[in-house]
Amino acid sequence: MREKELARYLSSYAGPPLRLMEVCGTHTSSLYRSGIRQILSPKITLLSGPGCPVCVTPTAYIDKLVSCSMKPQHRVMAFGDLLAVPGSRMSLAGARDRGGQADFFYNPEDVLAMAERDRTTTFVLAAVGFETTAPVWADLIKRVWEEKIPNIRFLTALKTMPQAMEILAGDPHIDGFLCPGHVAVITGSRPFRKLAEDSGKPMVIGGFTPPLLLRALARLVLEASRKQGGVWNEYPSVVREEGNRRALSLMADVFEEGDAVWRGLGNIKGSGLYLSAAYAGLDAGSRNLTEDIMPAGCCCAQVLTGRMTPGDCPCFGRACTPDHPVGACMVSGEGACSITYRGG
Ligand code: SF4
Repeated sequence: MREKELARYLSSYAGPPLRLMEVCGTHTSSLYRSGIRQILSPKITLLSGPGCPVCVTPTAYIDKLVSCSMKPQHRVMAFGDLLAVPGSRMSLAGARDRGGQADFFYNPEDVLAMAERDRTTTFVLAAVGFETTAPVWADLIKRVWEEKIPNIRFLTALKTMPQAMEILAGDPHIDGFLCPGHVAVITGSRPFRKLAEDSGKPMVIGGFTPPLLLRALARLVLEASRKQGGVWNEYPSVVREEGNRRALSLMADVFEEGDAVWRGLGNIKGSGLYLSAAYAGLDAGSRNLTEDIMPAGCCCAQVLTGRMTPGDCPCFGRACTPDHPVGACMVSGEGACSITYRGG
């Protein structure tokens, strides 16, 4: 079908009501920006999922970064949006106002030169992400280890998506999934095949341009309306069955699996990536950061699991805005609340 026909199919769909989850924050954002979300038939409800790494990071991780930033001769470096995420007492930006050392990078590699210029400071890098960024972090960690750079440490909050999706796939009020395309480039389509077999639900891997989104969503609506389980790869130009072998092997070398706490989903077995024994000397204390305290009134847990839309949260647009975020979902550019606030 051509794009116009796909758009017409999605806007005039009159089959059974469908609740479909777009797992990835970049999909949430692309669906808004392309206008596709706005043209969908009222019978199709899109639910945002946990695919924003900053949003699912528990408060204990932010608290740990805050405490690192307060240590003498330490400086925390993170992607910009992480600085504004509230911890249980304060954000990293708040810690900076109180004398903590925290700054942002555009590219984590930039910290190598900073660390060389200032050997008296230990730079703690906040390594947050999913399979998409884990290979980049693995590469950097390997380099720091091999070059014996003495004053860089990593606080990791790296997570793997199939384990979280396994929990969501069992939720009877979700009829199908638009699977995270960037993650699938690394993992391949195989992990989603297993999820589809176990849940009997459709899993469609989609790209990010409007034509690719239309194609993936139309496929998802068609299969979900037929209650047809399976995996459809609508991003075949970059997603292969076996994934990116080089990236997977790099990750296997540097990381080992462990349990991880996801905001909204709790502790998920084997869903975290931690520095393996060979690189453990570079770890800044990433394990056992399990506490997750939701700010009063915040519904991020429900938003991240598709049980609420951002607009259902009583704080949305009132107590919670991008300038004064109450929860992490209003901070990140991939957070459903932030996207809805700016795009809705
Ligand atoms: Fe959390 Fe704010 Fe979103 Fe409510 S609007 S769920 S408080 S981030």
